[in-house]
Amino acid sequence: MDIKEAFKNIIKQIPPNVKLVAVSKRKPIEAIEAVYGLGHRIFGENIVQELVEKQKVLPKDIEWHMIGHLQTNKVKYIAPFISMIQSIDSLKLLKEVNKRAKQHNRTINCLFEMHIAKEESKFGLTLDELEQILESKEFAEMKNINVCGLMGIATNTTDKELIVSEFKKLKEFFVLIKAKYFAENENFKELSMGMSSDFKIAIEQGASIVRIGSLIFGARI
Ligand SMILES: *Cc1c(COP(=O)(O)O)cnc(C)c1O
Repeated sequence: MDIKEAFKNIIKQIPPNVKLVAVSKRKPIEAIEAVYGLGHRIFGENIVQELVEKQKVLPKDIEWHMIGHLQTNKVKYIAPFISMIQSIDSLKLLKEVNKRAKQHNRTINCLFEMHIAKEESKFGLTLDELEQILESKEFAEMKNINVCGLMGIATNTTDKELIVSEFKKLKEFFVLIKAKYFAENENFKELSMGMSSDFKIAIEQGASIVRIGSLIFGARI
């Protein structure tokens, strides 16, 4: 299927209250332009260098989301333009994002990435680790980050029940953290979960953001 048809087919399946991040990693500029041409503005990438190169040449009204593991020493390259960093997985990283955002006189939207999958290799925080960050003095002093919610990646499996249980767990984390730390903060509202293989389950479990790549752009090689 061509990219535009694939995109139209996906967008039909996403309720209006759920945001779609079109994950364009390892796909060429022309592929992004095709989806942009249909009016879509939110794209996700996972490699800093690729993100910076694409941002340079594509229209400036694109909202770029960083969805991959982010090294502290690379934050400076995306700080001028990044719309949301979905993969905050340490206090050190968040401090750097705050510092660089401040240098550019802006506020950067952030999600904390939670570890919900069975696989050891996936990045992300435990609930304890997240609470330690939120209770730290350093966090309280950050003025240039806007914490919008949580992100998670489910186990890559055909076991639907396992995926459901992981998304349920992430939703529980979201509800708990919202009540305990962000009850008065209306910016804390995003739950980013669901990719090509499991976005329907994620929407059923309360995702507010889904991140879809291969179903739109085709398989990555
Ligand atoms: C690659 C990626 C996606 C999209 O994956 P698809 O299976 O191609 O939809 C979503 N989220 C993250 C964090 C990714 O790295």
